[in-house]
Amino acid sequence: MDLKLRRISRIAINALSPNKPHHAQWLITRKCNYRCRGCNVWKEQDQKELSTQEVKRGLDILKDIGVVEIVLSGGDPLLREDAKEIINFSTDRFITTVYDNGSMALKKIEALRNVDFVAISIDSLDEKKNDFIKDVPGAWKRAMKAVKGLKEEKINVCVTPTISQLNLYEILDITKYFTERGIPVWYCLYSYDRSCDENQLFRIGKPNDDLLIKDKQGMVKLFDSLIDMRKKNSRILITDKLLKVTRSLFSEDKRVWNCQALKNFLVLDHLGRIAGCHNQNYVGTVFDLPKIWNSKKFKELRKTYNDCSQCNYLCYIAYSLHGSPFGNMLIVKDQWKNAKLFISKD
Ligand code: SF4
Ligand code: SF4
Repeated sequence: MDLKLRRISRIAINALSPNKPHHAQWLITRKCNYRCRGCNVWKEQDQKELSTQEVKRGLDILKDIGVVEIVLSGGDPLLREDAKEIINFSTDRFITTVYDNGSMALKKIEALRNVDFVAISIDSLDEKKNDFIKDVPGAWKRAMKAVKGLKEEKINVCVTPTISQLNLYEILDITKYFTERGIPVWYCLYSYDRSCDENQLFRIGKPNDDLLIKDKQGMVKLFDSLIDMRKKNSRILITDKLLKVTRSLFSEDKRVWNCQALKNFLVLDHLGRIAGCHNQNYVGTVFDLPKIWNSKKFKELRKTYNDCSQCNYLCYIAYSLHGSPFGNMLIVKDQWKNAKLFISKD
């Protein structure tokens, strides 16, 4: 069987197997060259990280426990010297998305040739506002150039604005601007972490900053418009179900899903520590996973996380909603239909 077929069948078998953690986010480095407001990662940088061989061993373990889809982020994952080797290794095993703040993609373009998606973070069409949010001059120009350059090189690129109070009324324009140019859009949702655990993997945001979404009705209107737009616009990479569930959070202050952390998904950090999500304390390392995934302790933790309502991060909601084999089929249909999964890499 050639590489392409082996990859497809391996991913499909895992995607259709129940009770597996289908999604993983691996923050493979804690180095970052940006200073985004609302992010604390850059303030707590760490030069230490797993070696190339350790990351590869970890990726094989994730594959063996059933992971189908992985997001490589950081910091900026492309700041790792071995980014190309790790990304290619990952792309052979999973539907792989690589996050970049827009500063590295063109410099490391050879690392991105086989990846399913490169997600570039752009928070505004207004250069000044975007650079204010990133707190780095030139961020907007670099990110726009990266999107254009990746598209020209036929690398699947999408744009991922983080919805916050600072850009809430611009999100439709951002969506229109990029999707009309053939660039899919996925979203993050700004929130801040009320500490769940004092040893959590990392913390996002702080209370009452300018980014915190205060206009709930504005969010309801935005989500109504996105639900409507999505009917005709397949480049909006977010499922209807996710849009509707998130809308209810703002319209009725109601959570209509249960979190599936450490069941459908898990998060790993630059040292290979694993947690249900970044808000929770780490509960082992990737190398322990084969021993502990089905342990009593993990079963107990899953129950606790199932009742947790501490965060509203869109990716975690998405993984909670779409973790079943049927959910994976929806995701493959809805979200990754452009993925290079079905395109020969040989
Ligand atoms: S949001 Fe990403 S790019 Fe921005 S400072 Fe944090 S880790 Fe770096
Ligand atoms: S709701 Fe889930 S993802 Fe959010 S903090 Fe709780 S366990 Fe983590």
